[in-house]
Formats: sequence, C-alpha cells, structure tokens
Amino acid sequence: MLNIVLFGPPGAGKGTQAEKLIVKYGLVHLSTGDIFRSNIKGETELGNLAKSYMDKGELVPDSVTIKMLEQEVVKHESPKGFIFDGFPRTNNQANALSVFLESINTEVSVMLALDVPKEELVKRLLLRGEKSQRADDQDASIIENRIRVYLEQTAVVASYYEEKNKYQSINGLGSINEITERLYRVIDLI
Ligand code: AMP
Repeated sequence: MLNIVLFGPPGAGKGTQAEKLIVKYGLVHLSTGDIFRSNIKGETELGNLAKSYMDKGELVPDSVTIKMLEQEVVKHESPKGFIFDGFPRTNNQANALSVFLESINTEVSVMLALDVPKEELVKRLLLRGEKSQRADDQDASIIENRIRVYLEQTAVVASYYEEKNKYQSINGLGSINEITERLYRVIDLI
C-alpha cells in the first residue's frame, strides 16, 4: 500500500493537492477536517463536540480524532493506500497511526510536507474564507490561532517522520500544477 501523510500548516494546499494525488495514484483521501465538517453539517454528537474546538482554531482532542480516523480507514476494502490530510497533528496521533497501520499490516510510506511562508498562508486562508463558508477561514484571529497551534503542537510531527527517514519537504509556492508535479516526482521514487 502507498500511505502518504500530506503535511503542512493551514493554507499550505494539502486538500487541493490531495485531490490531484488520489486521481493519479488511486488512493483514498482522508481529511480529518472534512470528516469533522461533515459531522457538523449532519449535527452529530461528534460534530457538536468538534465544533466547539474548531470554532476557536484549537485541536479536537486526540482520543476523539484517533478513534474517528481508525473508523474511517476500516471502511475501505482493499484500498491501494491512503492520503492522510490534516492527520496526524500531534506526536500522540502519529504514534497511534503507526500502531494502527501495523495492526492492519501496513505503514506510512512517506510524509510530504508542503513548505509555505506564513504571510502567504494568511493570504490564502482569507481568500478561501471569502469563497467558502468556513467560519475558521473568515476571522483573522482564528487564522492566527490555527497557525500558532500548528507551530506549537503540530510542527514537531515532522521530526517523528524525519527520524524514520520518511520526511520529504516540498516547496509549496507556485502554481497548483507546479506543486503537484513536485509531489509526483517524489512519490514516483517510492
Ligand atoms: P483542517 O480542515 O485540516 O484545516 O482542520 C480544521 C480544524 O479541524 C482544525 O483547526 C482542528 O480544529 C480540527 N482538526 C482537523 N484535523 C485534526 C486533527 N488531526 N487533530 C485535531 N484536530 C483536528
């Protein structure tokens, strides 16, 4: 299986690039943010809980997020692999993912980290906020908090994969297609 962790701060382009990669490599796209948003829309218990954190730009607790992710993975029969988008966001989640994938006889193949400077992230998120209905993209202070949470709690996850020689940084600036081509070049070497 080809299991890719698509990593990077909010606004790095993970969702956009994941959509391209699933077409080329036949993978399943699992975005924890998207799953939370669909639960919020469906007014489920999980959605109500997640909303209270997402509205502030904070992380949903690990126990909840990990359980939800595992339940999504097992829904797919004989997949070619997964793109994990927005997960893992803490070392605890990374560990849980590793243990879980091992239990189903697979592992993370690579972490691809999209590298984008902060000023560009804020610009992209505010632009996305104008087009989408995402409340967390429409408020500059929530955006700031999400970037702070990324730097304080999530950025360390890169080292987790670096230590396992599974970390690849990708320049996340340029046109969507240019960035996709950069990702293809790395994935095709796996
Ligand atoms: P995203 O769509 O990836 O930007 O995620 C939107 C929001 O969902 C985040 O700001 C968090 O509140 C929550 N979220 C998404 N993925 C995770 C995760 N792996 N761990 C904790 N919270 C998450």
